[in-house]
Amino acid sequence: IVQLYSSVDWFDYFVRAIQRNLVDIENVLEVLKEEQEVSDSPDARELEVTDGAISFNNVFFEYVPNQPILKNISFEVPPGGTVAFVGPSGAGKSTIMRLLLRFYDVCSGSIIIDGQNIKDVTQESLRKAIGVVPQDTVLFNDTIGYNIKYGRLQSEEDDIIEAAKGADIHDKILTFKDKFATEVGERGLRLSGGEKQRVAIARTLLKSPHIVILDEATSALDSKTEQNIQKSLQRVCSGRTTIMVAHRLSTIIHADQIIVLSEGKIIERGRHSDLLEMDGVYASMWKLQLSSNNRNEMESS
Ligand code: ATP
Repeated sequence: IVQLYSSVDWFDYFVRAIQRNLVDIENVLEVLKEEQEVSDSPDARELEVTDGAISFNNVFFEYVPNQPILKNISFEVPPGGTVAFVGPSGAGKSTIMRLLLRFYDVCSGSIIIDGQNIKDVTQESLRKAIGVVPQDTVLFNDTIGYNIKYGRLQSEEDDIIEAAKGADIHDKILTFKDKFATEVGERGLRLSGGEKQRVAIARTLLKSPHIVILDEATSALDSKTEQNIQKSLQRVCSGRTTIMVAHRLSTIIHADQIIVLSEGKIIERGRHSDLLEMDGVYASMWKLQLSSNNRNEMESS
Protein backbone atom coordinates (compact mmCIF):
# COMPACT_ATOMS: atom_id res chain seq x y z
CA ILE A 1 0.00 0.00 0.00
CA VAL A 2 2.80 2.34 0.86
CA GLN A 3 4.25 1.72 -2.56
CA LEU A 4 0.93 2.07 -4.34
CA TYR A 5 0.11 5.28 -2.63
CA SER A 6 3.52 6.81 -2.56
CA SER A 7 3.48 10.18 -0.93
CA VAL A 8 4.02 11.89 -4.25
CA ASP A 9 0.93 10.28 -5.81
CA TRP A 10 -1.09 11.01 -2.78
CA PHE A 11 0.10 14.57 -2.75
CA ASP A 12 -0.71 15.00 -6.42
CA TYR A 13 -4.15 13.51 -5.91
CA PHE A 14 -4.73 15.73 -2.92
CA VAL A 15 -3.61 18.88 -4.70
CA ARG A 16 -5.82 18.11 -7.69
CA ALA A 17 -8.81 17.42 -5.49
CA ILE A 18 -8.32 20.66 -3.63
CA GLN A 19 -7.73 22.55 -6.82
CA ARG A 20 -10.99 21.29 -8.30
CA ASN A 21 -13.00 22.24 -5.29
CA LEU A 22 -11.35 25.60 -5.01
CA VAL A 23 -11.94 26.48 -8.61
CA ASP A 24 -15.55 25.51 -8.23
CA ILE A 25 -15.95 27.74 -5.26
CA GLU A 26 -13.86 30.47 -6.74
CA ASN A 27 -16.05 30.50 -9.77
CA VAL A 28 -19.02 31.42 -7.72
CA LEU A 29 -18.28 35.09 -7.28
CA GLU A 30 -14.94 34.69 -5.63
CA VAL A 31 -16.31 33.24 -2.48
CA LEU A 32 -12.82 32.05 -1.70
CA LYS A 33 -12.08 35.41 -0.24
CA GLU A 34 -14.99 35.05 2.09
CA GLU A 35 -15.46 32.82 5.05
CA GLN A 36 -18.08 30.13 5.14
CA GLU A 37 -20.85 32.03 6.88
CA VAL A 38 -23.87 29.79 6.78
CA SER A 39 -24.69 26.20 7.54
CA ASP A 40 -27.67 24.02 6.67
CA SER A 41 -30.37 23.92 9.27
CA PRO A 42 -30.73 20.45 10.87
CA ASP A 43 -34.04 19.87 9.11
CA ALA A 44 -33.02 21.42 5.78
CA ARG A 45 -34.90 20.02 2.80
CA GLU A 46 -33.88 19.82 -0.81
CA LEU A 47 -34.91 22.82 -2.86
CA GLU A 48 -37.57 21.80 -5.33
CA VAL A 49 -37.50 24.06 -8.31
CA THR A 50 -40.69 23.91 -10.30
CA ASP A 51 -40.84 27.19 -12.22
CA GLY A 52 -37.81 29.15 -11.04
CA ALA A 53 -39.64 32.15 -9.56
CA ILE A 54 -37.43 34.27 -7.30
CA SER A 55 -38.49 36.91 -4.83
CA PHE A 56 -36.52 39.12 -2.47
CA ASN A 57 -38.76 40.50 0.24
CA ASN A 58 -37.62 43.48 2.31
CA VAL A 59 -34.07 42.20 2.45
CA PHE A 60 -31.65 43.98 4.77
CA PHE A 61 -28.04 42.91 4.93
CA GLU A 62 -24.75 43.96 6.49
CA TYR A 63 -21.34 42.25 6.35
CA VAL A 64 -20.19 43.99 9.51
CA PRO A 65 -22.46 45.17 12.31
CA ASN A 66 -23.94 48.62 11.83
CA GLN A 67 -22.71 48.99 8.28
CA PRO A 68 -25.85 48.30 6.27
CA ILE A 69 -25.13 47.27 2.70
CA LEU A 70 -28.61 46.35 1.43
CA LYS A 71 -31.55 48.32 2.67
CA ASN A 72 -35.05 47.02 2.15
CA ILE A 73 -34.55 45.30 -1.19
CA SER A 74 -37.68 43.78 -2.71
CA PHE A 75 -38.11 42.49 -6.23
CA GLU A 76 -39.50 39.55 -8.12
CA VAL A 77 -38.18 37.64 -11.07
CA PRO A 78 -40.96 35.70 -12.80
CA PRO A 79 -40.20 32.18 -14.09
CA GLY A 80 -37.96 32.50 -17.13
CA GLY A 81 -37.78 36.28 -16.73
CA THR A 82 -34.74 38.54 -16.52
CA VAL A 83 -33.93 41.17 -13.95
CA ALA A 84 -30.81 43.26 -14.42
CA PHE A 85 -29.01 45.29 -11.76
CA VAL A 86 -27.07 48.41 -12.57
CA GLY A 87 -25.47 51.03 -10.41
CA PRO A 88 -22.16 52.40 -9.25
CA SER A 89 -19.36 50.28 -7.85
CA GLY A 90 -20.07 49.30 -4.27
CA ALA A 91 -23.85 49.73 -4.63
CA GLY A 92 -24.44 46.12 -3.56
CA LYS A 93 -25.09 44.36 -6.87
CA SER A 94 -22.77 41.40 -6.24
CA THR A 95 -24.02 41.16 -2.68
CA ILE A 96 -27.50 40.40 -4.01
CA MET A 97 -26.06 37.53 -6.06
CA ARG A 98 -24.11 36.24 -3.06
CA LEU A 99 -27.26 36.27 -0.95
CA LEU A 100 -29.19 34.37 -3.61
CA LEU A 101 -26.47 31.71 -3.52
CA ARG A 102 -26.71 31.93 0.24
CA PHE A 103 -23.07 32.63 0.93
CA TYR A 104 -24.52 34.81 3.67
CA ASP A 105 -27.85 34.90 5.41
CA VAL A 106 -29.99 38.01 5.20
CA CYS A 107 -30.24 40.08 8.38
CA SER A 108 -33.96 40.43 7.89
CA GLY A 109 -36.45 39.81 5.15
CA SER A 110 -36.49 36.71 2.98
CA ILE A 111 -35.38 35.22 -0.30
CA ILE A 112 -37.89 32.81 -1.75
CA ILE A 113 -37.50 30.43 -4.68
CA ASP A 114 -40.71 28.75 -5.83
CA GLY A 115 -42.32 29.32 -2.44
CA GLN A 116 -39.35 27.99 -0.42
CA ASN A 117 -37.24 30.19 1.80
CA ILE A 118 -33.63 29.53 0.83
CA LYS A 119 -32.75 29.43 4.54
CA ASP A 120 -34.70 26.20 4.86
CA VAL A 121 -33.10 24.25 2.03
CA THR A 122 -29.74 22.55 1.70
CA GLN A 123 -27.02 24.73 0.20
CA GLU A 124 -26.11 21.90 -2.12
CA SER A 125 -29.56 21.73 -3.68
CA LEU A 126 -29.72 25.52 -3.90
CA ARG A 127 -26.43 25.79 -5.75
CA LYS A 128 -27.35 22.89 -7.99
CA ALA A 129 -30.34 24.89 -9.21
CA ILE A 130 -28.28 27.98 -10.01
CA GLY A 131 -25.71 28.36 -12.77
CA VAL A 132 -23.22 31.19 -12.54
CA VAL A 133 -21.50 32.85 -15.46
CA PRO A 134 -18.92 34.93 -13.61
CA GLN A 135 -16.99 37.96 -14.81
CA ASP A 136 -13.77 36.09 -14.83
CA THR A 137 -13.86 32.34 -15.15
CA VAL A 138 -11.16 30.40 -13.43
CA LEU A 139 -9.93 27.41 -15.42
CA PHE A 140 -8.54 24.17 -14.07
CA ASN A 141 -5.14 23.06 -15.16
CA ASP A 142 -6.73 20.33 -17.19
CA THR A 143 -8.05 19.81 -20.69
CA ILE A 144 -10.51 22.21 -22.26
CA GLY A 145 -12.90 19.23 -22.51
CA TYR A 146 -12.71 18.63 -18.77
CA ASN A 147 -13.15 22.32 -18.11
CA ILE A 148 -16.45 22.25 -19.96
CA LYS A 149 -17.51 18.86 -18.61
CA TYR A 150 -17.14 20.29 -15.13
CA GLY A 151 -20.61 21.81 -15.56
CA ARG A 152 -21.98 18.27 -15.21
CA LEU A 153 -19.43 15.56 -14.58
CA GLN A 154 -21.70 12.77 -15.81
CA SER A 155 -21.88 14.35 -19.27
CA GLU A 156 -21.23 12.27 -22.36
CA GLU A 157 -18.85 13.43 -25.05
CA ASP A 158 -21.70 14.42 -27.36
CA ASP A 159 -23.18 16.67 -24.68
CA ILE A 160 -19.83 18.41 -24.25
CA ILE A 161 -19.59 19.02 -27.98
CA GLU A 162 -23.16 20.31 -28.04
CA ALA A 163 -22.45 22.69 -25.14
CA ALA A 164 -19.27 23.92 -26.83
CA LYS A 165 -21.31 24.61 -29.94
CA GLY A 166 -23.98 26.43 -27.93
CA ALA A 167 -21.31 28.60 -26.36
CA ASP A 168 -19.80 29.22 -29.76
CA ILE A 169 -16.39 27.88 -28.83
CA HIS A 170 -16.50 24.54 -30.64
CA ASP A 171 -14.81 25.65 -33.86
CA LYS A 172 -12.13 27.43 -31.91
CA ILE A 173 -11.39 24.27 -29.92
CA LEU A 174 -10.96 22.32 -33.13
CA THR A 175 -8.12 24.67 -34.09
CA PHE A 176 -6.23 23.77 -30.88
CA LYS A 177 -3.41 21.26 -31.24
CA ASP A 178 -5.08 18.46 -29.27
CA LYS A 179 -8.65 19.65 -29.84
CA PHE A 180 -10.77 18.92 -26.74
CA ALA A 181 -7.77 17.23 -25.10
CA THR A 182 -5.73 20.46 -25.17
CA GLU A 183 -4.42 21.45 -21.76
CA VAL A 184 -5.51 24.90 -20.65
CA GLY A 185 -4.97 27.00 -17.56
CA GLU A 186 -1.76 28.06 -15.87
CA ARG A 187 0.35 25.33 -17.40
CA GLY A 188 -1.41 25.00 -20.72
CA LEU A 189 -2.93 27.15 -23.38
CA ARG A 190 -3.94 30.55 -22.08
CA LEU A 191 -7.43 31.48 -23.17
CA SER A 192 -8.60 35.03 -23.79
CA GLY A 193 -11.22 36.67 -21.57
CA GLY A 194 -13.91 36.05 -24.18
CA GLU A 195 -12.92 32.39 -24.56
CA LYS A 196 -12.95 31.85 -20.82
CA GLN A 197 -16.41 33.33 -20.64
CA ARG A 198 -17.50 30.91 -23.34
CA VAL A 199 -16.17 28.03 -21.25
CA ALA A 200 -18.37 29.30 -18.40
CA ILE A 201 -21.34 29.49 -20.75
CA ALA A 202 -20.68 25.96 -22.02
CA ARG A 203 -20.46 24.68 -18.42
CA THR A 204 -23.75 26.35 -17.59
CA LEU A 205 -25.41 24.93 -20.71
CA LEU A 206 -24.33 21.47 -19.53
CA LYS A 207 -25.47 22.12 -16.00
CA SER A 208 -28.81 23.28 -17.36
CA PRO A 209 -29.94 25.05 -14.20
CA HIS A 210 -33.36 26.65 -13.68
CA ILE A 211 -31.74 29.88 -12.58
CA VAL A 212 -28.79 31.73 -14.07
CA ILE A 213 -26.69 34.41 -12.44
CA LEU A 214 -24.83 36.47 -14.97
CA ASP A 215 -22.08 38.78 -13.88
CA GLU A 216 -21.23 40.80 -16.93
CA ALA A 217 -17.53 41.45 -17.46
CA THR A 218 -16.50 45.04 -16.87
CA SER A 219 -13.52 44.73 -19.15
CA ALA A 220 -14.51 45.68 -22.67
CA LEU A 221 -14.29 43.03 -25.35
CA ASP A 222 -14.06 44.13 -28.96
CA SER A 223 -17.50 44.76 -30.38
CA LYS A 224 -17.54 41.71 -32.68
CA THR A 225 -16.59 39.34 -29.84
CA GLU A 226 -19.12 41.16 -27.73
CA GLN A 227 -21.92 40.56 -30.21
CA ASN A 228 -21.04 36.88 -30.52
CA ILE A 229 -20.90 36.43 -26.77
CA GLN A 230 -24.28 38.09 -26.47
CA LYS A 231 -25.75 35.43 -28.71
CA SER A 232 -24.44 32.58 -26.59
CA LEU A 233 -25.46 34.38 -23.42
CA GLN A 234 -28.97 34.65 -24.77
CA ARG A 235 -28.86 30.92 -25.44
CA VAL A 236 -27.82 30.14 -21.88
CA CYS A 237 -30.49 32.43 -20.39
CA SER A 238 -33.30 31.45 -22.69
CA GLY A 239 -36.16 29.87 -20.75
CA ARG A 240 -34.26 30.29 -17.47
CA THR A 241 -34.87 32.77 -14.72
CA THR A 242 -31.97 35.17 -15.03
CA ILE A 243 -30.59 37.67 -12.61
CA MET A 244 -27.72 39.72 -13.87
CA VAL A 245 -25.26 42.43 -12.99
CA ALA A 246 -24.94 44.61 -16.05
CA HIS A 247 -22.25 47.08 -16.98
CA ARG A 248 -23.10 47.66 -20.60
CA LEU A 249 -26.63 48.94 -20.74
CA SER A 250 -27.00 47.87 -24.36
CA THR A 251 -27.18 44.26 -23.13
CA ILE A 252 -30.24 44.81 -20.94
CA ILE A 253 -32.54 46.73 -23.24
CA HIS A 254 -34.86 43.72 -23.33
CA ALA A 255 -34.72 42.82 -19.63
CA ASP A 256 -38.13 42.43 -17.98
CA GLN A 257 -36.99 44.71 -15.26
CA ILE A 258 -33.95 46.90 -14.71
CA ILE A 259 -33.18 47.85 -11.14
CA VAL A 260 -30.94 50.80 -10.38
CA LEU A 261 -29.13 50.33 -7.10
CA SER A 262 -27.35 53.06 -5.21
CA GLU A 263 -25.84 52.72 -1.76
CA GLY A 264 -27.82 49.56 -1.15
CA LYS A 265 -31.18 51.02 -2.08
CA ILE A 266 -33.36 50.66 -5.13
CA ILE A 267 -33.64 54.12 -6.60
CA GLU A 268 -35.30 53.34 -9.93
CA ARG A 269 -36.87 50.33 -11.57
CA GLY A 270 -38.69 49.51 -14.77
CA ARG A 271 -38.10 48.49 -18.35
CA HIS A 272 -35.48 50.27 -20.42
CA SER A 273 -38.04 52.49 -22.16
CA ASP A 274 -39.82 53.34 -18.86
CA LEU A 275 -36.55 54.37 -17.31
CA LEU A 276 -35.57 56.53 -20.25
CA GLU A 277 -38.93 58.24 -20.02
CA MET A 278 -38.38 58.82 -16.31
CA ASP A 279 -35.28 60.79 -17.28
CA GLY A 280 -33.52 60.06 -14.02
CA VAL A 281 -30.32 58.26 -13.05
CA TYR A 282 -30.69 55.42 -15.56
CA ALA A 283 -31.41 57.84 -18.38
CA SER A 284 -28.26 59.79 -17.63
CA MET A 285 -26.20 56.57 -17.41
CA TRP A 286 -27.60 55.65 -20.82
CA LYS A 287 -26.72 59.02 -22.34
CA LEU A 288 -23.24 58.79 -20.88
CA GLN A 289 -22.67 55.33 -22.39
CA LEU A 290 -24.04 56.43 -25.74
CA SER A 291 -21.70 59.38 -25.92
CA SER A 292 -18.68 57.35 -24.81
CA ASN A 293 -19.55 54.66 -27.39
CA ASN A 294 -19.75 57.32 -30.07
CA ARG A 295 -16.44 58.73 -28.95
CA ASN A 296 -14.81 55.28 -29.09
CA GLU A 297 -16.23 54.65 -32.53
CA MET A 298 -14.99 57.97 -33.77
CA GLU A 299 -11.56 57.31 -32.31
CA SER A 300 -11.32 53.87 -33.87
CA SER A 301 -12.50 54.96 -37.31
P1 ATP B 1 -18.95 46.40 -8.19
O1 ATP B 1 -19.77 46.94 -9.33
O2 ATP B 1 -17.71 47.20 -7.96
O3 ATP B 1 -18.70 44.94 -8.25
P2 ATP B 1 -21.15 46.02 -6.32
O4 ATP B 1 -22.30 46.90 -6.56
O5 ATP B 1 -21.24 44.63 -6.82
O6 ATP B 1 -19.81 46.70 -6.85
P3 ATP B 1 -20.73 44.78 -3.75
O7 ATP B 1 -19.58 43.93 -4.15
O8 ATP B 1 -22.04 44.11 -3.57
O9 ATP B 1 -20.89 46.02 -4.75
O10 ATP B 1 -20.33 45.53 -2.41
C1 ATP B 1 -21.21 46.38 -1.71
C2 ATP B 1 -20.50 46.94 -0.50
O11 ATP B 1 -20.21 45.89 0.40
C3 ATP B 1 -19.18 47.63 -0.80
O12 ATP B 1 -19.11 48.80 -0.03
C4 ATP B 1 -18.15 46.63 -0.36
O13 ATP B 1 -16.99 47.28 0.10
C5 ATP B 1 -18.85 45.93 0.78
N1 ATP B 1 -18.38 44.54 0.91
C6 ATP B 1 -18.36 43.61 -0.06
N2 ATP B 1 -17.91 42.43 0.42
C7 ATP B 1 -17.65 42.63 1.72
C8 ATP B 1 -17.16 41.80 2.77
N3 ATP B 1 -16.88 40.51 2.57
N4 ATP B 1 -17.00 42.36 4.00
C9 ATP B 1 -17.30 43.64 4.23
N5 ATP B 1 -17.77 44.48 3.28
C10 ATP B 1 -17.94 44.00 2.05
